[in-house]
Amino acid sequence: MPLYQSQKLRIQNSLSGKKEDFTPLNEGYVGMYVCGPTVYSNVHLGNCRTFMSFDMIFRYLKHLGYKVRYVRNITDAGHLVDDAEDGEDKIAKKARLEKLEPMEVVQRYTVDFHNILSQFNFLPPSIEPTATGHIIEQIEIIKDILDKGLAYEVNGSVYFDVAKFNETHEYGKLSGRKLEDMIANTRELAAQDEKNSPQDFALWKRAEPQHIMRWPSPWGDGFPGWHLECTAMSTKYLGETFDIHGGGMDLKFPHHECEIAQAEASYGQSPVRFWMHANMLTMNGKKMAKSTGNNILPGEIFTGDNDILSKAFSPSVVRFFMMQAHYTSILDLSNDALLASEKGYRKLMESIDVLGTLNTGNTTDFDIASWRQKCYDAMNDDFNTPILIANLFDAVKHINLIKEGKESISEIDKANLMTSMRTFSFEVLGLENESASKNESGKLSGVVELLIQLRKEARENKDFATSDKIRDELSALGIQLKDGKEGTTFSVS
Ligand code: AMP
Ligand code: ZN
Repeated sequence: MPLYQSQKLRIQNSLSGKKEDFTPLNEGYVGMYVCGPTVYSNVHLGNCRTFMSFDMIFRYLKHLGYKVRYVRNITDAGHLVDDAEDGEDKIAKKARLEKLEPMEVVQRYTVDFHNILSQFNFLPPSIEPTATGHIIEQIEIIKDILDKGLAYEVNGSVYFDVAKFNETHEYGKLSGRKLEDMIANTRELAAQDEKNSPQDFALWKRAEPQHIMRWPSPWGDGFPGWHLECTAMSTKYLGETFDIHGGGMDLKFPHHECEIAQAEASYGQSPVRFWMHANMLTMNGKKMAKSTGNNILPGEIFTGDNDILSKAFSPSVVRFFMMQAHYTSILDLSNDALLASEKGYRKLMESIDVLGTLNTGNTTDFDIASWRQKCYDAMNDDFNTPILIANLFDAVKHINLIKEGKESISEIDKANLMTSMRTFSFEVLGLENESASKNESGKLSGVVELLIQLRKEARENKDFATSDKIRDELSALGIQLKDGKEGTTFSVS
């Protein structure tokens, strides 16, 4: 029986504003879409927090036994500077400033994004589609919305008609805004503005002659509006209605509100059953953001090469720091907070190492089954990782008491506790035991050094068959030996 049948998950749904029982549309399968990065600059730690929250969510859904199709896109076109409706494309602007091809910019920062995420031990999504790879799908949706009379074309651009849509649907239901209030609070349109109303948004923009990112369409050369790509890619891979759509809180309006409007206009039904929004990482109390300069890059934290923190912090320490906050709470980055997380992370990892060495007795002074259920209860309650971590530290306390001989644990309970501690720490929270990997690489070095010594002795004895065998077999395993003046060294590829 899959775990999800006994562990009842509840999720905070931004659409209803309530925590709701989670049951997917198709039993056993979950479709989840998360808005990915706009690849025009290095991801900062704030971006990573949102993606890490959804990595943890993906991990727990998988742990519960769901088959999850997780789609996280790459925005490589259509996202304009300042998230505006007019102006330059973020990627085209970077390409112009750095004298690069737009796709060179995209490639550079996509590689950076993947590199940082793998250092943080993220699981790759099931599909990672790009906006530029789905221009045809986006054009089809625009044609459909035009046919339904909910969009209009002006000079080669197409805009979504929010007021018309709102006559039969509810624009603003995700963000809790009312169209009348939005209208009352906005200034008049500038004379040159093509839109009927400031609330309308672009589905397709005409490309001016200098705009290099352009595609042919029924309305002339242009490029898609930012909100449209997510509607096209989520529904293409997950269906017209799917289980979970996530992103940072700052995307709720207008991005996700517009996604709902586009999908309802085109498909006639609400696209998403559970909208999930991750809260912001702040620094000095202000949102971490590229545009304000109030940000730090993960690489600067891992190397310690920055003016903000007193020392370097490893990816697992930063991950532990993030997991100590609930994904819907604001989290502030500071040196003190990271130092405290480092202590906590080390204590947890040491305790898992110690657990393996404990002597066992006939009885257990600690109810492992109910402790384990408390860990599940925390995660089932809208992925409450801080409570899960508090429970893990409850186990740490018992492990210490057992080590000191003040409590006892049976052989079978020790094995169960080990499995649960490892499952929650590594599989669900995605931490890595850095001291264990250091131990592993220490052991590997010891073994290779021994083989280098044996090879040296074989050569001294003119037993070249053995010395060549050692070199060739190591090479086949990806370990290259290099003979130099100082002796033999090795590298692992
Ligand atoms: P972008 O590349 O600007 O489209 O942003 C990628 C993701 O990072 C979006 O889901 C944003 O909501 C999220 N994001 C941006 N700034 C922060 C922050 N300070 N804390 C958490 N998430 C953020
Ligand atoms: Zn999106």
